[in-house]
Amino acid sequence: MHPQYARRLHKTVRRLVPESDVRFLLSESGSGKGAAMVTAVAYRLADQTRQIAQTLAEFQLSKDQLLEIKKRMRTEIQNGLGKDTHEKATVKMLPTFVRSTPDGSENGDFLALDLGGTNFRVLLVKIRSGKRRTVEMHNKIYAIPKEVMQGTGEELFDHIVYCISDFLDYMGMKNARLPLGFTFSFPCKQTSLDAGILVTWTKGFKATDCEGEDVVELLREGIKRKEEFELDVVAVVNDTVGTMMTCAYEEPTCEIGLIAGTGSNACYMEEMRNIETVDGDKGRMCVNMEWGAFGDNGCLDDIRTEYDRAVDENSLNEGKQRYEKMCSGMYLGEIVRNILIDLTKRGFLFRGQISETLKTRGIFETKFLSQIESDRLALLQVRAILQQLGLDSTCDDSIIVKEVCGTVSHRAAQICGAGMAAIVDKIRENRGLDHLDITVGVDGTLYKLHPHFSGIMHQTVKELAPNCDVTFLLSEDGSGKGAALITAVGCRQREQEQQN
Ligand code: ADP
Ligand code: MG
Repeated sequence: MHPQYARRLHKTVRRLVPESDVRFLLSESGSGKGAAMVTAVAYRLADQTRQIAQTLAEFQLSKDQLLEIKKRMRTEIQNGLGKDTHEKATVKMLPTFVRSTPDGSENGDFLALDLGGTNFRVLLVKIRSGKRRTVEMHNKIYAIPKEVMQGTGEELFDHIVYCISDFLDYMGMKNARLPLGFTFSFPCKQTSLDAGILVTWTKGFKATDCEGEDVVELLREGIKRKEEFELDVVAVVNDTVGTMMTCAYEEPTCEIGLIAGTGSNACYMEEMRNIETVDGDKGRMCVNMEWGAFGDNGCLDDIRTEYDRAVDENSLNEGKQRYEKMCSGMYLGEIVRNILIDLTKRGFLFRGQISETLKTRGIFETKFLSQIESDRLALLQVRAILQQLGLDSTCDDSIIVKEVCGTVSHRAAQICGAGMAAIVDKIRENRGLDHLDITVGVDGTLYKLHPHFSGIMHQTVKELAPNCDVTFLLSEDGSGKGAALITAVGCRQREQEQQN
């Protein structure tokens, strides 16, 4: 009401902070309407918190739900092993023809190839038995150019043979005719230790004329074409099996292999009498479960969320590998990204602005989950990580993002644990035991580097399989050392068969 008051106040402020543009707005009934406003904001925040909690609640599985997942995995295992059910089964339970774990008597020099990870490697592995068992390894990494990965099968295998040739020259071993193990981390239908028919390429490989072919035969033909050296291809090896064998060499109770990396898969020693897809009832054989495909018949649809479905729909193999898409490194970040988009659309995050970055598929890598969930990280650092991703966050945003990441990785570890619980209990029942002590060999960057994944997984196995004591052992180079050990065991098996 004072004729000069307002004008003087404005002028003073402008003079004191000339770099700021300050506007003055008259409030109408600040105490009455204001009180209502404060209440409304509190309501909105409470409602927002409730809605976010509701969204994340779908990812929180009760013990009963986890037991149900374990039970369903058991059913699918049975289907994969059964003669009449195998053909239609989603969890394929592929026989590997590895009939025993190493016993320490393995001895000799072996070559190993590792194809299917990020790099192609050729290795020389010297295994010595006796009082002081040792394993010495030499390896060389080779690039596989994209045009070779996606050229003809003949070009791909010529390149592989060229690399082996280079490696043998480098080691001065051209004339040795060594036994070789071929780690080939793609789904393969095996009919013996040294025969594996490629079901389908994955991970960016697309070479023609390989699917439906025996990859060992393709390798042998390549070696023949080169006419420079001879090799004895003894085994084709899945990375889960290599992982199990590497750990079993150090720890004889290791009869399970687990991969939690780009993908998710497991193998274990099953009784021959239960493997109806292979003749014979005596002893055991390692089965490559290919458990990533669990749920492809719809049996997990009741626990899958709309975000899981979105990730699946945007993937290269829609409808396939549904379990893997809930628990492996390639997909966890994508699940998080889809939740963040939804929360932003609903106005709970990033001021409701969906940035271009957030729309980019694959931008939210699983390694960021590891960083964001690290207990040593302050919220400010979480904001710095989001900033690097081009996401401008408030402090409240960063709290929500951290909660979303934790929820997604927690569920991943739990359902992986539920699958593992199904395996250990099956092995315990196979052996008619009340209590089982067993070791799992594990490989994979998600398991190794995520701050909570391994701990939650262990805890889940403990709760869901209380009659088993399960130890987890990290594998060291399962695809290289493991392949050599399988080759050594294979050579021993072959000698025994020749004697019989
Ligand atoms: P692969 O499974 O291809 O043989 P790895 O076991 O090294 O190879 O797994 C690689 C995958 O691990 C990547 O695709 C990524 O999803 C995930 N990953 C990479 N870094 C991390 C990390 N720091 N924390 C969790 N997961 C990670
Ligand atoms: Mg690997």
